[in-house]
Amino acid sequence: MSEERKAPEKSLDFIREIIREDLSSGKHASIHTRFPPEPNGHLHIGHAKSIALNFGVAEEYGGLCNLRFDDTNPMKEDESYVRAIENDVRWLGFDWQEREYHASDYFGKLYGFALELIDKGLAYVCSLSEEEIRATRGTVTEAGRPSPDRERPAEESRRLLEEMRRGDHAEGDYTLRAKIDMASSNMKMRDPLIYRIRRVSHHRSGNAWSIYPMYDFAHCLSDALEGITHSLCTLEFENNRELYDWFVEHTSVEARPRQIEFARLNLNYTVMSKRKLLELVRDGHVSGWDDPRMPTIAGLRRRGVPPTAIRAFCEKVGVARRESVVDVALLESVIREQLNHDAPRHMAVLDPLKVVITNYPEDGEEELEAVINPEQPELGKRKVPFSRELYIEREDFLEDPPKKFFRLAPGREVRLRYAYFLTCEEVVKDAEGRVTELRCSYDPATRGGDAPDGRKVKATLHWVSAKHALPATVRLIDRLFRVENPNAVEEGGSFLDHLNPDALQVLAEARVEPALAGREPGWRCQFERLGYFSVDPDSGEKPVFNRIVSLKDSWARVKNQRR
Ligand code: ATP
Ligand code: MG
Repeated sequence: MSEERKAPEKSLDFIREIIREDLSSGKHASIHTRFPPEPNGHLHIGHAKSIALNFGVAEEYGGLCNLRFDDTNPMKEDESYVRAIENDVRWLGFDWQEREYHASDYFGKLYGFALELIDKGLAYVCSLSEEEIRATRGTVTEAGRPSPDRERPAEESRRLLEEMRRGDHAEGDYTLRAKIDMASSNMKMRDPLIYRIRRVSHHRSGNAWSIYPMYDFAHCLSDALEGITHSLCTLEFENNRELYDWFVEHTSVEARPRQIEFARLNLNYTVMSKRKLLELVRDGHVSGWDDPRMPTIAGLRRRGVPPTAIRAFCEKVGVARRESVVDVALLESVIREQLNHDAPRHMAVLDPLKVVITNYPEDGEEELEAVINPEQPELGKRKVPFSRELYIEREDFLEDPPKKFFRLAPGREVRLRYAYFLTCEEVVKDAEGRVTELRCSYDPATRGGDAPDGRKVKATLHWVSAKHALPATVRLIDRLFRVENPNAVEEGGSFLDHLNPDALQVLAEARVEPALAGREPGWRCQFERLGYFSVDPDSGEKPVFNRIVSLKDSWARVKNQRR
């Protein structure tokens, strides 16, 4: 009858193993996960791993995945972040199908659970300040000291909590604490806070509340209220699991979600802490959350990275319990692989040097056929205009070339891609001795790029026709930090000390093939020999291209040379 639900073929990670076991043992008839961002910043590629995991397993095992905003800290949260996060998750290709929830929607229910704990003698209103609570919590080797209010009668705690909620007390006057165990070996279990007074307005609940629940209380109970079966989170929450279970256990909530921790994604040459990303934006080290140098989803999108590449990267990285740092070169290679498949090829010259072909007719011009792969015409089969004056890349010419430089030099012949063989006859310079123009000759018999007499050249250059080419701005984007681990700083230093000042290079004099006029922002292509590029939303009359990734891993080459 019904076809048995098949797990994916590939070997399963430990989370998928658990889920498969829970389904086959009948512990759960179906699974339910959630992605729980706090709307206090934009998502980064680390979040993409969590998104891909939560939505991914739900999809693979026929379950559901909620998008839940963990909005219990109104001081740092904002509606604009909610919109941005929704947009990013959708762009990555995941769909929460109306199941968007907010912890703030549960404020009433959470309050009810707190009263329940008070009535059971499992919570009390404490008059110690937050500093005093910290100071009396003890250490790993020493038990904490009980609050003087630990035995406060339930009625009194109830009354005080109600007053706190109404706004009768000032911030810091009271907190609500769980009554668990001041000697627990797990510090999180030493009478943790449940509510604190914060007389601030919330972006959703407005001024309805003068108290806000702590993460440890709100998160597990929100999971339970939504019927989450597997609550997947990163390893730093391992010690919170005991408390997670305690709150679920001691309140009347029905479901029993299971928290499972996995290693967060760390990438070298970047930072992933929201606090640090916020600092980069706020202090103007980057142009915004969507600066193409940023590891944010918005930054990667702006840069031109396709969402499929981010998903493929997350899959490649996999899910494990061991902390590791992933080389950003892996991300770049996944992006490259993806674009190699479907990005059309074009020519652009980033730093133009003029070439005049002295034996080409003054007003002559022609269209040359450019084909990358006859089987795949969509990869840039096109006509490219050719004329007497061209631009080539300045770095493709050297007047006095060293031994291994095979590109253009005085007296040397090279191939112009799709066009002709070209020989440099004369170098024109300005007063400062800078090369301003090359006077060259071409061989009309080599049309299409091959010599009928079989003679060979050692280099093929890209070029554009000077009178046809389109002026463009090109942004070359490199790693935001110069060092592998920008988080490691010396005493008194800051991660900002490691910023790479050359991470963004703007080339305003670039020229591109005329076929590239009027492309939409986000459109991607390969500029032959230069890398993969995408049209930036800043484009106007003059297009702006961002380099998504270079063609080869130039970084690894530099690194190897240094060794
Ligand atoms: P904060 O410091 O504000 O808590 P956060 O990065 O933990 O920052 P959240 O909005 O709480 O931000 O994260 C939402 C979810 O994404 C959480 O479940 C968290 O565990 C997960 N997550 C965050 N960073 C990573 C990462 N680098 N790799 C994998 N998952 C992550
Ligand atoms: Mg968090």
